[in-house]
Amino acid sequence: MSKFVSLLLLGFLTACAGQKIQQRDVAAPDKHQSPQCQAIQVFFNETLNAFQERLDLASADYQREQWKVEANEPGASTQKMSGLFEAYQKVAYDQSVLQKTLNLVKQSAQVESSCVWKQRLVRVQQLLETSILTRDSVVKKEKDNQEKQDLLSNKSNAFRIQLPGETEPVSRALLSKKIGSTEDRSVREKLFKQFNAARAKAWLEYGFRELVKSRNEEARLAGFKNFYEYRFFRNQLDLKNYLNNVQLIKAQLAPKIRKVLRKLADVQGIKKIEAWDLRYLREKSASGDVNELFKQFPESEVMKIASDFYSSLGIDVASYGFQMDLYPRPGKNTHAFAMGIVAPQVAEDGTVKSMPKPDIRFLANLKKPVQWDDISTIIHELGHAIHFGEIRQPISVFRGFGSVETEAIAMTLERMADSQEFLEDILPKYTAVSAENLKPLLEKQEKTVRIEQAFVLLRQVLFSEFERAIYLNPNQDFFQLWAKIFQEYWGIPLQPIYADWDVDHFVMAPVYVQNYAIGILMVQQIFESLMKDFGTAYRSKAIGDKFRSQYFGPGMEFDYLKLTEKFTGRPLTAQSALKLLEGL
Ligand SMILES: [Zn+2]
Repeated sequence: MSKFVSLLLLGFLTACAGQKIQQRDVAAPDKHQSPQCQAIQVFFNETLNAFQERLDLASADYQREQWKVEANEPGASTQKMSGLFEAYQKVAYDQSVLQKTLNLVKQSAQVESSCVWKQRLVRVQQLLETSILTRDSVVKKEKDNQEKQDLLSNKSNAFRIQLPGETEPVSRALLSKKIGSTEDRSVREKLFKQFNAARAKAWLEYGFRELVKSRNEEARLAGFKNFYEYRFFRNQLDLKNYLNNVQLIKAQLAPKIRKVLRKLADVQGIKKIEAWDLRYLREKSASGDVNELFKQFPESEVMKIASDFYSSLGIDVASYGFQMDLYPRPGKNTHAFAMGIVAPQVAEDGTVKSMPKPDIRFLANLKKPVQWDDISTIIHELGHAIHFGEIRQPISVFRGFGSVETEAIAMTLERMADSQEFLEDILPKYTAVSAENLKPLLEKQEKTVRIEQAFVLLRQVLFSEFERAIYLNPNQDFFQLWAKIFQEYWGIPLQPIYADWDVDHFVMAPVYVQNYAIGILMVQQIFESLMKDFGTAYRSKAIGDKFRSQYFGPGMEFDYLKLTEKFTGRPLTAQSALKLLEGL
């Protein structure tokens, strides 16, 4: 899951200067518009533009220092970074810009609905209302809860379990990994029963329930019923759309997943699946075959494969001039991420301006043995970088991208790279795979990818349903609640005393797990529409053109629901995801 946790901060990028783009109605007032509509346009060109310029400068300063810190460059200072972040926040939390926007929305009630600026103003209202806090009591409570969260998070990170036969106590993550990889079923059961709920119990002692209640308090101060609904609002997510899709997944996808699980269990000779078998069965189904092929592959060649992938879509990775830091160094962040610091800007005549020069960076830690997962992660992260680099939004306040929006497209590109078609092209080119092994390997990989996608989707939906329930009623028994939901989704019985409901995100990134689920729904719907429209998962430059014009170019003008609908021709639903296990 770590590939999802990329650093997607506020920012944007560049391509070939001078490239012609579609001209949009930005600067010149349109004489067909009413004077009131023109007044909104002036507000965009003056007030909002000035606000965005201040924001861009503060954000770039902060991100450049953050890059230095993450890459462990000489002179990097976390202290300077926090100072710059505070400075950025001061600029971002501009209550007067929010107030002016809200006033203008009110005054514009009578403006003709064909006024495109009126529609854009509604989007600006959403962007500003969800990011700028106006009540001091909420600001204070948010800070207070952040401190509570940090305390609990530190304790949880330090939590270790002493396992029999291990010299050092292990983390919660290592315990799960061990249970998932233990071949002896009775040992799995013992480990599970003895230790699986240990950290969940500790969380209650650390004050997790109080944190949940205190977050609900914050939500009520902000005018919401509970923290779950409040976070959906702050993240610009549509709760109703999400809950409808949860119902579909629970009613239609979960039974199919249970059937697949049943088959996997048969292969392992397991008659009745128990909770301690779940991760084990998942790991068994995951394919190591493709990873194995890249064992001897030089890490310095990974970018070549990624470039091959993008050039098939008509996207030239080298043309963006990304600043790249690809190999491990002591003290450097050990993950992979993209950072958009300065977005490309387009002039009134539709060309990309040469100044400010776009600044997009990319950090990874490529090393031997290379795994296919490392390559697909690079393709994913490059997807964020390219997304940023392809923003062609003349309206400055929309010159960026939202986290759900960019995550979904990066995941889609990763899914395209996992397709049989792409692997069929690159495996013979870059690895020693034999001709007779290729076909069965590709079929297995495609199957594995779809099963894993379905598992991850169901898991994240299950997590989010538990999280919603605890904010709706923080006084209930979390162990019983988890056991009940676990059985409903997986069809596997679980005694409440063994319930491991302590999902890290619940402390560190509250009400976030649904983003993964929404991302997968978008991936499936976009992927299906590509196959339908282009008849291929990646062998078409027209796919790249469609990404550019429909998805990357508009920046933040549209939210994830509108983007999905514009791209696929229908509203976002779980329908495509329900087909994940079809024919398996
Ligand atoms: Zn990502």
